Amino acid sequence: MKIIMKFGGTSVATGENIRHVVDLVAKNAKKDRVTVVVSALAGVTNSLIEVAEQAKKSDEKHIQAFTKELLNKHVEAISTAIKSKEVQKEVTQITQKTLAELEKVLTGICYVGEVTPKSRDYVVSFGERLSAPIVWGTIKDQGLETQWFTGKEAGIVTDSNFGEADPLMNYTAHLIRERLVPLLEKGVIPVVTGYIAANQDGVVTTVGRGGSDYTATILGVALEANEVWIWTDVDGIMTTDPKIVPTAKMLPQLSYQEAAEMAIFGAKAMHPRALEPVIKESIPVRIRSVFHPENAGTLITKAPDATAKEAVKAVAMIKDVAMLNVSGAGMVGAPGSYAKVFEVLGKNNINVMMISTAASEANISMIIKRGLLGRAISNLEIALLDKGGLVSEVSAEDDVAVIAVMGANMKGTLGVASRIFSTVAKKGINIRMIAQGSSELNISFVVKEKDGAAVVKAIHEEFNLDKI
Ligand code: ADP
Ligand code: ASP
Ligand code: MG
Repeated sequence: MKIIMKFGGTSVATGENIRHVVDLVAKNAKKDRVTVVVSALAGVTNSLIEVAEQAKKSDEKHIQAFTKELLNKHVEAISTAIKSKEVQKEVTQITQKTLAELEKVLTGICYVGEVTPKSRDYVVSFGERLSAPIVWGTIKDQGLETQWFTGKEAGIVTDSNFGEADPLMNYTAHLIRERLVPLLEKGVIPVVTGYIAANQDGVVTTVGRGGSDYTATILGVALEANEVWIWTDVDGIMTTDPKIVPTAKMLPQLSYQEAAEMAIFGAKAMHPRALEPVIKESIPVRIRSVFHPENAGTLITKAPDATAKEAVKAVAMIKDVAMLNVSGAGMVGAPGSYAKVFEVLGKNNINVMMISTAASEANISMIIKRGLLGRAISNLEIALLDKGGLVSEVSAEDDVAVIAVMGANMKGTLGVASRIFSTVAKKGINIRMIAQGSSELNISFVVKEKDGAAVVKAIHEEFNLDKI
């Protein structure tokens, strides 16, 4: 069998964890051809994003203190994960060289006083560039043949949408095959950095937060893997985030469509676009826990478990979103007025996650990522406010969360929506906006973020999700 094994940040958070995941790799490599995808150590990507922002107004002393801290963190992991002094030394040298480069990049940003999406991607790419050599060294330490690659070196070529890039799949598959298949045939275990790739000019890109999952499925398709295993810190995809409801249950089987819906709607366990490449090729994806490797986890396939009857399978909360309202009497019956709003957002690379309109047509409400709110409002104002009174107001609420209730059997089941909304009403919580996708796989609505966890708990209880 050919397997892709992806390890997330918490799975490689410490040297001890790295040894543990490498044991899992070694065990499977005895019978299967394994390709490893690895995320940055837990917390590192966040700290890189923060330092890139601060570098604009920072000084060299701060930057040096930051890289020193990263060095200590990674050297500690190296000395715990790897036993051979020789390999330790080799990986430490790579780490030092990589961090010297990071220091230069950050100093550059500090002098220029500006971070662009392009330079931000370059900075965040260092997280995975630091973790992959440690995993590689630990595999080598176990006497196995291995070689490590950045996403770019492995052959992942994307468009230039920095921060949310998408692979040019045909070209990528060709390059990956050319570079990795000969190694796999010789029994070498490739270790590839998740999350990072490069555009056609070789400039570093990233495929979106949590993007190592995406890297894993891209590799899965290119290498025609039998399965892609996403190893993480929970047992699989659950009925809701176990951090909100500790009694949440693991869902043993999901369809691609259900899992994609859950990923898009906040089940952080997986990157929202990660299933796109594998759906066409019908490659199964398994989400499983590094802490309970004896469990099979959640298996995501084309058509699982046709006997499941529950209308509602899962509930999720998406934080870090904002509600954008565009209104104006001039929009009523004016052809093309919605199109104009979406054109402005689209041109500025702002993805609209949810839309709802009033029957009077005088208002559109949209949900977008909170970080994009400033860009959205300013561009809409510039483009629309002076267009002959079409739009009179652009307003926003940035303290909201989306609650998504999901399940394939919701389609055609009567009364689900009324049960959901009366549950929320009983809690005395106000709903700001409602949308049901035409797929009828989910009903989503918006509440104030402070009420989000209470709503998730109440719905989980109402539909007995912990008793499935
Ligand atoms: P990794 O570092 O392995 O990529 P992530 O933090 O990206 O892990 O995703 C795993 C986390 O997703 C879990 O720890 C859990 O708190 C969160 N999560 C949110 N919703 C769900 C859900 N429905 N099922 C499983 N995990 C979820
Ligand atoms: N390290 C990246 C992130 O934190 C990618 C990943 O973890 O999948 O977003
Ligand atoms: Mg993740």
